Amino acid sequence: MKPATSLNNVVICRRCDAALSKPNIQPGHKAICPGCGALLFELKKNPMERTMAVSLAGLLLFFPAILLPMIGVSAAGAHNEASLIDCIVILLNSGYHIVALIVFLFTIAIPIVHLLAAFYIAVAVHFNKISQSLLVFFRSYHVLDSWTMLHVFFLGVIVSIYKIVDLAELTVGGGLISFVLLLICSTLVSVTLDHYYVWEKMEQALED
Ligand SMILES: [Zn+2]
Repeated sequence: MKPATSLNNVVICRRCDAALSKPNIQPGHKAICPGCGALLFELKKNPMERTMAVSLAGLLLFFPAILLPMIGVSAAGAHNEASLIDCIVILLNSGYHIVALIVFLFTIAIPIVHLLAAFYIAVAVHFNKISQSLLVFFRSYHVLDSWTMLHVFFLGVIVSIYKIVDLAELTVGGGLISFVLLLICSTLVSVTLDHYYVWEKMEQALED
């Protein structure tokens, strides 16, 4: 949930528009509007440490996800395995240039930038190295965040095209398992990266 709009020490309730002085709450607790009971904001426990851990795990998973065989195809007694990179090369060689570009963007480029951005924001906030550029970075992260779920869709595209190209038996490889774990990490990052906490820290640092 998006945090209530804050202006220094004032919090505006998004549901009833009440202007309240910002309550001091401990990590792991939620601030509730006394008027209407809506959630004003919540402080998660160790949000930056969790984001660092999850985004780093996601970044490490990229190597097996890209390089290990993603799907195996058995046909006419022969067995072929293809990694994500192979799939993109196959798409390029088959003349599906735009599909290849879109698959590359949504399965490799955007998830990598999304995880790197989350990792950078978490490290910068955790070690209090907040600069004006982090503000730009954080806004860009918001834009990317809304695009990340699309890679689930494009993973489906890869499998479908493979099925169309060769109506054969498909087996799941280590690459696909790593990719699914990577998607889970990417989704967890969106949950652990506490936007309210980051805005608070940035406001404090940039005011000084
Ligand atoms: Zn309210």
